[in-house]
Amino acid sequence: MKSRIVLLGAPGSGKGTQAELITRHFAISVTSPGAILRRERDLGTPLGLEADEVSKQGGLVPDDIIVRLIEDWLNLHGKEGFVFDGFPRTVTQAERLNEILQKQASSLDLAIWLEVSEETVRDRIASRLQCRRCGFTTSVTSAGFAERPICPYCDGPLIRRNDDDASVLQTRLTEYKTKTEPLLSFYEKDDALHRIDGNRDRDTVFADISALIEERVK
Ligand code: AMP
Repeated sequence: MKSRIVLLGAPGSGKGTQAELITRHFAISVTSPGAILRRERDLGTPLGLEADEVSKQGGLVPDDIIVRLIEDWLNLHGKEGFVFDGFPRTVTQAERLNEILQKQASSLDLAIWLEVSEETVRDRIASRLQCRRCGFTTSVTSAGFAERPICPYCDGPLIRRNDDDASVLQTRLTEYKTKTEPLLSFYEKDDALHRIDGNRDRDTVFADISALIEERVK
């Protein structure tokens, strides 16, 4: 299915989890600037190390850097549609995405907003574990991962992200409220926005998202 979808929402709203389910179920390519930047950091590249200085304090990486990553990815992999997990995060990024899509004579099909309460965010972030190698995300309360923090898919180490610390989370939430939430009215204007209650379990949320994709993207 050829569709162009962006997933928006606060840290811990389930964007990564839902992006993974969408790509598996609908065979749409997915990318996440956060995951690209963590990989670059682990490889020790100048981009990765510079971005990590910003991310570990809870800030957003400059728009120009992120838009370039996305444009390069779109040129290589975006012909058959995409799901973006964590992009755009500012109105400037959303405007630049529209310009890139216009150049390709295409447009966005869906902007899915995963709405979660602050309590959900805090609970999920406090228990989140992520595979350092493949990015699989889970919770310390699931399936014995507290005792044996090993990824069930690639045997990589399950660790806590350095920006999931409670004091950094506060900055991330402020960045989200001031820079990302204005996207709500941006996408409402062109009728692309759909709000989904992200406080529920992942399969219930995904059932709503699947129905939306099937209905909107023919
Ligand atoms: P995520 O994995 O989506 O939570 O992203 C982790 C970190 O990467 C964020 O806290 C930002 O520092 C950076 N980042 C990811 N996506 C973006 C974006 N669209 N704009 C700016 N910074 C981003």
